[in-house]
Amino acid sequence: EMFGRLGVSVRNAVQRIGNGSVVTQKDIDKALREIRIALLEADVALPVIKTFLQKVQDQALGRNLVKSLYPDQLISKIVYDEMLALVNNDPVHWARRSSILVMGLQGSGKTTLCGKLAFMFKAQNISTLLVSLDPYRPAAQSQLAVIGNSIGVDVLPVVEEDVYTTAKRALSKTPFYDHIIFDTAGRLHVDKELMEELVQLQSIIRAKENLLVCDSLIGQSITEVSKSFSKLTLNGIALSKLDANHKAGVILSLKSLLDLPIKFLGTGEKPQDFMQWDAKRIVNRILDQGDIAELVHKTTQLLSHETHAQQLSRIQKGIFTLDDLIVQMDAMQKMGGLSSILKLIPGMGAILESLQNKDTSFKKEKAILSSMTVKERKDPKILDASRKKRIARGSGTTVQDVNQLLTRFGEMKKMFGKFSK
Ligand code: GDP
Repeated sequence: EMFGRLGVSVRNAVQRIGNGSVVTQKDIDKALREIRIALLEADVALPVIKTFLQKVQDQALGRNLVKSLYPDQLISKIVYDEMLALVNNDPVHWARRSSILVMGLQGSGKTTLCGKLAFMFKAQNISTLLVSLDPYRPAAQSQLAVIGNSIGVDVLPVVEEDVYTTAKRALSKTPFYDHIIFDTAGRLHVDKELMEELVQLQSIIRAKENLLVCDSLIGQSITEVSKSFSKLTLNGIALSKLDANHKAGVILSLKSLLDLPIKFLGTGEKPQDFMQWDAKRIVNRILDQGDIAELVHKTTQLLSHETHAQQLSRIQKGIFTLDDLIVQMDAMQKMGGLSSILKLIPGMGAILESLQNKDTSFKKEKAILSSMTVKERKDPKILDASRKKRIARGSGTTVQDVNQLLTRFGEMKKMFGKFSK
């Protein structure tokens, strides 16, 4: 459960303010106290919490209640805006024809990140060369080669030579690639030797992006890690392992702790498990307001091109059919379990929870859907008692099962309708 309970706690605190016409200082104090606890639990840095709450308080009191907003909505908006201000940095732009240098402690997720970046570029038809600058660990070199192979991206062949020669050999391929991504050696603890090597590599490669990869689980110790890399030019952070992290604190604190922009988030071990940095999307996720963009991104990656484009445009118009449901179920199945998808939609989780505990192959549901005629799938409203009986018989289920599926579908449809707005 990415980002844990912060969103729920904040929302509960705000909801308790209620929607009466008068908000007292006492109401606000109480809500802020609860939000403070939630932020502490999420491991947000203390100075960040202090400033954040002060700003929310000032705004809440300073503003007359806007006519169309109830007090709880108003506070909710202020919290959202202030949280956005905590993380806001410019949208990430990966300039073409440039190098990316990936650095970080051993095990932080450098090699995995290289694969993710290459995977992302490949999906955009941007060519990449992957280069390992870690001759000290043959396993690291082969790990990169395996990733490159699996996603169909070129990897610079390994030759026995020093890292500087390798870097230059890679740069000589510059005309043939949009990006050259360099993976570097990491140590458990930074040592002088490695730092000097990285400094020298930086002067040779002159990368446009010098990324420091940090395991998000280290929380606020990220300050110490980045300090140990302070001899280097850095212009961005990539946070890994957010899927294993229940605390959003590091994301919310980073701007005040380091003043380096977050550019990329790792959300799993596979090349496709990432999020490009997008402040609004992240704050939506943290506050548990769902994230349709990510859902669509994840789902469509698995669909064929026509289906993908068609479904996307339909869903955007708020049209969601039973045939789409079939596509969704297939996609969810391919992604191995629903949990990663369900979390993205508030409210949707509860609807599909029953399915998750059952058979994730959706056998029953698919049987019901395939017993329907094309016409029925297009317009389930025509499903009267006798049609339902026929479908139940055809699928070896009961009318109750059919009704349950239709109810769930109706609820999903409503959700998608809301998102389209
Ligand atoms: P490196 O030593 O810095 O190159 O780190 P690796 O890329 O080899 O990653 C170390 C371990 O963390 C590997 O087992 C990766 O599969 C895992 N890993 C990397 N990024 C993520 C992530 O975003 N989520 C999860 N769950 N695991 C990750």
